[in-house]
Amino acid sequence: MTTQEVLRVEQLSVSYGHVQAVVDFDIAVNRGEIVALLGPNGAGKTTVLKTISGQLRAHRGKVHYGGQDIIGMRPDKICRAGVVHVPEGRQVVAPLTVEENLQLAALASRRCPPREVRAGIEHIYSLFPNLAKRRFSASGLLSGGEQQMLAIGRALIARPNVLLLDEPSMGLAPVMTEVIYEFLGNRPDVLREVGVILAEQSRIALSVANRVCILTQGRVAFSGRAVDASHDITVKAYLGTDVTASDPLSGS
Ligand code: ATP
Repeated sequence: MTTQEVLRVEQLSVSYGHVQAVVDFDIAVNRGEIVALLGPNGAGKTTVLKTISGQLRAHRGKVHYGGQDIIGMRPDKICRAGVVHVPEGRQVVAPLTVEENLQLAALASRRCPPREVRAGIEHIYSLFPNLAKRRFSASGLLSGGEQQMLAIGRALIARPNVLLLDEPSMGLAPVMTEVIYEFLGNRPDVLREVGVILAEQSRIALSVANRVCILTQGRVAFSGRAVDASHDITVKAYLGTDVTASDPLSGS
C-alpha cells in the first residue's frame, strides 16, 4: 500500500452458493478521495461493500486496512477499526429519534469518546441543518432524504477512516439527491482525511469522484480517473442512456 492509501482490495471473489457475484475484484482508495463504484442492477456493488465491512464472506481475496487483512473479521470490529458502512436503503433505527440514532451510533462505534458525543451531534447538525430541525422526531417519520442524511451522520459521528456509501441517491427526490451530492462534492473537514467508496447505478457519482471503477456482472470493466471516465466508450456503454436519463444532476 502507498502512504496515501487507506484501504486496498485485492482479487476479491464472492459467491452466493453457486452464484458468483464478484470475481477477482480490485479497488483501492486514498485518504480524502472518493472512488465511485458504478454498475447496473445486480453488478455486484453491494456485495463488494458488504464483504469489505464483514457482512459477507469472501471465498478469495484480501482487504488491506490498517496494516492487516480484515477479511474474516467481525463487522462490529471492522466498524470499530474505522471502516463504516452506510447500507443501501439507509436502515436507521426507525422508532428512535434522530438524536438517539446519532447517540447510539457514536457510542456503539466506540470511536467517539462519551464526553465528545454532544459536540459530535451538534457538528452533524451543522453539516445537515435539516436534521437539527427534526432532532426529536422518530427517524422512521423522516423523508427519504432526511433518513439518508441521518444514515450518513451516523457514519460520520463514528469518525471513519473509510466510508462505504451504498447508493445514497436511491429513491430520493432530486432536491434531496442534490443536498447529499453537494455535501460530498464540497468535502467538508469531516471528509478531508476519509477514503470514500461510493456505489451508484448512475453517472451522478462522477460529479464528485476522483476515480471510478465500473463493475459489470461482478467483474471490473473500467478503472481509472473520473475525468477520463466520462469520455470512455466502455463507461458510456455500461452507464447507457437508460441510467443517465434518470440522473437528476446530469442535465440529460
Ligand atoms: P443493485 O444496484 O441492484 O443494488 P448490485 O450491483 O449492488 O445491485 P448485488 O446486490 O451485489 O448487486 O448483487 C450481485 C449479484 O449477486 C446479483 O446477480 C444478485 O442477484 C446476486 N445476489 C445478491 N444477493 C444475493 C443473495 N442473498 N442470494 C443469492 N444471490 C444474490
